[in-house]
Amino acid sequence: MKITHLTPIILHAPVTRGGIADSTHSITHWGAPGVAIHADNGLVGYGFSGTHAHLPTDRLIVQCATEAFGPLLVGEDPREVRYLWEKLHKHSPVLWVGRSGITHLALGAIDIALWDLKAKAAGLPLWKLLGGSSRKRVEAYNTDGGWLNWPIEQLVSDCRRLVEQDGYRAVKIKLGSADANEDLRRLGAVRSALGPSVRIMTDANGKWNLPLAVQIGRRLREFDVVWLEEPIAFDDVGGHARLAQAIDTPIALGEQLYLAHQFRDFIHAGAVHYVQPDVVRLAGITEWWQVADLAHSYSLPVVPHVGDMCQVHQHLCFAHPGCALLEYIPWLRDWMRHPAQIQDGHFVAPEAPGAGMEPTVEALERINRI
Ligand code: MG
Repeated sequence: MKITHLTPIILHAPVTRGGIADSTHSITHWGAPGVAIHADNGLVGYGFSGTHAHLPTDRLIVQCATEAFGPLLVGEDPREVRYLWEKLHKHSPVLWVGRSGITHLALGAIDIALWDLKAKAAGLPLWKLLGGSSRKRVEAYNTDGGWLNWPIEQLVSDCRRLVEQDGYRAVKIKLGSADANEDLRRLGAVRSALGPSVRIMTDANGKWNLPLAVQIGRRLREFDVVWLEEPIAFDDVGGHARLAQAIDTPIALGEQLYLAHQFRDFIHAGAVHYVQPDVVRLAGITEWWQVADLAHSYSLPVVPHVGDMCQVHQHLCFAHPGCALLEYIPWLRDWMRHPAQIQDGHFVAPEAPGAGMEPTVEALERINRI
């Protein structure tokens, strides 16, 4: 089995109600720039990054994947994915311009596509190729009811619907309003509506400075919050370590970290409790697995951030012993051939061979018009 060529793909999917916001970002579409990797036996592997659907940057990502990395893959056996990851990761012209950012996102998309090919060649869903079991329970928590631009009535009714109609037992709401007291009002309203047994996660998306994070972080105890996510700048190891000493609520982070080394530094410093690696931010499944093993060795739960809209992460969670809980956001479900399925608040193990990111025929037609 040999790789013959790569083709670029850019997918832009609309988000819920035409626009969502957290404390730092406001978007109308989710971007999935990536590649299709074609093999000489007719199989095609698909892998994507996750972006804010900005076409000029998405073009740079797919250009890096197809033009800088692509020639290194042609003629190679895609099943030798860890060897190929090393080959691409150490390719000196790309390494020289950065071990993060666009080059890393491009490598991540390629790595996912290679694992997709490997699983398809084996005729197995990725979780089974990685040694997982469908008997494992992977709970879903839902983020799509808790956006900061939802008025408080919408926030409460969405969270209530997710629990009462859709069967979720855990939801995440965004913090980081201009007035921190408004955050507490919103959180209090959701806690009152959902009752004491539903778990609530909170996420400030890096909005606060350290003293404000300590001040608000201490108040979260009143609302029995599972975690406080990205309270301050996402790469501030020392700040998160000091915050972890000052508040009772556990800290979650990792969605904006590019490297396994960065996770090592946070974990070693005691600056994170819930570890949130993202397969599309790290350089794919190969590096994600290193982070999950590392966190697991420190007895820290791995709860991935889903830049892939959980299509790949669901496989990883059915396979990795450190994962029992995974974020769910539905934005790519109409664009994927085998969208993630939730039943009674839990993921259903996918049965189709591959890593889960194959677009529908209709999506591929739309992609070609971008
Ligand atoms: Mg987050």
